[in-house]
Amino acid sequence: MSHYYSEPVVTLLSRPSFATPEHLPVTWIGESTDGERLAEFAGRLCYMSQHNPAKRQTREYLENIKKQGHGSVLEHANYSLLLEGVSRSLTHELVRHRAGFAYSQLSQRYVDESEANFVIPPAIAGDEALERAWREQVEAAQAAYVSLVAELMTRYGWVADKVHRRKMAREAARAVLPNATETKIVVTANARAWRTMLELRSSEGAELEIRRAAVTVLRLLQREAPGFFSDFEIYVAEDRREAARIGYHKV
Ligand SMILES: Cc1cc2nc3c(=O)[nH]c(=O)nc-3n(C[C@H](O)[C@H](O)[C@H](O)COP(=O)(O)OP(=O)(O)OC[C@H]3O[C@@H](n4cnc5c(N)ncnc54)[C@H](O)[C@@H]3O)c2cc1C
Repeated sequence: MSHYYSEPVVTLLSRPSFATPEHLPVTWIGESTDGERLAEFAGRLCYMSQHNPAKRQTREYLENIKKQGHGSVLEHANYSLLLEGVSRSLTHELVRHRAGFAYSQLSQRYVDESEANFVIPPAIAGDEALERAWREQVEAAQAAYVSLVAELMTRYGWVADKVHRRKMAREAARAVLPNATETKIVVTANARAWRTMLELRSSEGAELEIRRAAVTVLRLLQREAPGFFSDFEIYVAEDRREAARIGYHKV
């Protein structure tokens, strides 16, 4: 039985772990996380200012880094997220973000999509008639996929290796699956790269599903490392959906 998602599910998989080098201790001030300390350490190394002459708190220090546009020190801190309940059309847009990003996505060649889940486009969700029409199309596409896989398994009966045969069948049959098919993707990016992507995809001009996911990711990263993401402001736009604007553009 397929599940219909109307929200992304975002899980933090990994955050930086900072180990202070004994020979170069930094005078830390204020609350901070390992990722933020790593960036501060990297920034301070450039000027050998580990003694913190301006007596800055870590988050003030990072605020200044963003203000000055010295964003390269943010590249040391990587965060890995698992995204589920997102559509193939969302990930098609997401993977356009290249610099500083790494991706591993569920394969439609290896994984059987006979019971795939789907993501209701935000513009359709909540309208009963539209949802019904959309669902009929999705169910028909899934039924077509199932019968195509069965027919292709017969057509490729001469392929002795069953795993290979299944892959050949699925890679062709997936052509009929819609963009709304749910997928799962592990995304790793450094804080600077996340900022660039979140700026573009949480804005009002972005497509609704990726915009919603970007706001979810932003909230998670703001909790995780405020020093990197606190200049983003989440607001409700005129279309009554959430969007975000950035304080420091493209650091
Ligand atoms: C609202 C919206 C609509 C869009 N519509 C379309 C569309 O219709 N068709 C379409 O094809 N795409 C579309 N895109 C995708 C867009 O063109 C970019 O591919 C995507 O936003 C990634 O941006 P980026 O290249 O800046 O990101 P990244 O690849 O993450 O790069 C980040 C930054 O690094 C630098 N950089 C990265 N690679 C290079 C390089 N090779 N050379 C020099 N500098 C580099 C640039 O400064 C770049 O901004 C759209 C994006 C948005 C947000």
